[in-house]
Amino acid sequence: SVPVVLFTSDLRLHDHPPLRAALSGADEVLPLFVRDLAIERTGFAVPNRAAFLADCLAGLDAGLRERGGRLVVRTGDVVEEVCRAVTEAGSDEVHLSAAPSAYGHRREQRLHDALERQGCRLFVHDGVAHAVAPGEVTPASSDHFAVFTPYFRRWSQCALRAPSPAPREVRVPEGIGSEALPDRAKVAGTSPGLARGGEQEGRARLAAWLRDGVEAYEERHDDLAGDATSRLSPHLHFGTLSPVECVQRARRRGGAGADAFVRQLAWRDFHHQVLAARPQAATADYRDRHDRWRGAAARDDIDAWKEGRTGYPIVDAAMRQLAHEGWMHNRGRLLAASFLAKSLYVDWRVGARHFMDLLVDGDVANNQLNWQWVAGTGTDTRPNRVLNPLRQAHRYDPEGAYVRRWVPELRDVEGASVHEPWKLPGLERAGVDYPEPIVGLPEALERFQRARSNV
Ligand code: FAD
Repeated sequence: SVPVVLFTSDLRLHDHPPLRAALSGADEVLPLFVRDLAIERTGFAVPNRAAFLADCLAGLDAGLRERGGRLVVRTGDVVEEVCRAVTEAGSDEVHLSAAPSAYGHRREQRLHDALERQGCRLFVHDGVAHAVAPGEVTPASSDHFAVFTPYFRRWSQCALRAPSPAPREVRVPEGIGSEALPDRAKVAGTSPGLARGGEQEGRARLAAWLRDGVEAYEERHDDLAGDATSRLSPHLHFGTLSPVECVQRARRRGGAGADAFVRQLAWRDFHHQVLAARPQAATADYRDRHDRWRGAAARDDIDAWKEGRTGYPIVDAAMRQLAHEGWMHNRGRLLAASFLAKSLYVDWRVGARHFMDLLVDGDVANNQLNWQWVAGTGTDTRPNRVLNPLRQAHRYDPEGAYVRRWVPELRDVEGASVHEPWKLPGLERAGVDYPEPIVGLPEALERFQRARSNV
């Protein structure tokens, strides 16, 4: 029998437990990827992620071909397509990675039921998309951790498997048809500076990061202009890198930078275990319910925020980086999200949706729960803290280089005065085509405090 390995967001050959398990008992396997129409219909298959995915599938196919196999791609309902492949290959096993989302759980359940009717077993493998899988550590009194610090303590004590190498050979039966792979060049509407996907690219980036970048991570991770973070997030999202391997290799590398990097990887698992236990947190407030957000009156403000013309250069720089690259520095995400949710007082779901429309690493757990963390409805222990965009700007972009990179209207303004163009002397201000702030910070803070005092 030929086991089917259904690839989802685990698009790699290294350290891939489902593939390894399938190969352990068979000479041939069927590596399958289904372009799931249900996902495409939700609007989540946005151009930036569709293009990155095309790279990942091309990389996976190339890796399989080097080993004597190939990737089989189908489009349709994922359960129907898996069942069809099982019939074509005469399989009695399907292997799949566990997914933490509500959709992932439903997919597993539907597959399990449909395959059982065909006399075929489904094996769902944990720990493919996480270093520590959701539910693997829990506090005494709940099914998940709601606070990061105790979670991280337990997470750090978990024994991780040794990452496995990619298989040397993957033989795929003849005569099983595949559609053409999606072509990145044919995806319209992508961000001009979008990164490349694929396992090879991800592995090269990880190696370079561990060699040259991670050492300074602790001191430099918040330096907006320095761009000194790993940029591995899209690879972790699409699974071209194994989180277990990232943690193990960073630990082996050692040092304060590597420790800080490992801690960030634990944040990723943290949000996933929250979402796995509370799938409704993707749209509903996780902890503090809040329904007094500004409505239609905020429409122009929302547009200005999306388009990077709020009049606060640091916020606008971050939003323009997002539009240009389909990626944003973490500090930029924090301050841009805080500006929308707390200074403009707009529902976090509006901002989260816009991020999901553009982020190449856009991930339901990490996006929605980070948004909730910033908005004060999620796992943040200081829900009423408001990030002051000016203080953030002076602290994390002290020379103004990040703003000048992304806001060309302000390119000629020197030093930190770029953060407050409204203070430029008359003539200089008149020569700069850049909007006035859409809201005053004291006024924004007062509105926030008034609304919050009634929560
Ligand atoms: P590094 O600083 O090099 O960190 C290494 C890895 O750790 C990242 O690749 C990521 O997988 C993980 N990580 C780091 N910080 C966080 C965090 N706060 N939460 C969860 N994981 C983290 N991350 C996503 O992967 N997808 C999202 O959709 C997403 N949306 C976000 C929305 C908001 C409002 C905020 C504040 C943060 C969001 N993040 C998201 C988290 C974080 O900003 C990105 O993971 C990070 O900027 C990616 O860049 P990097 O790979 O260079 O990170």
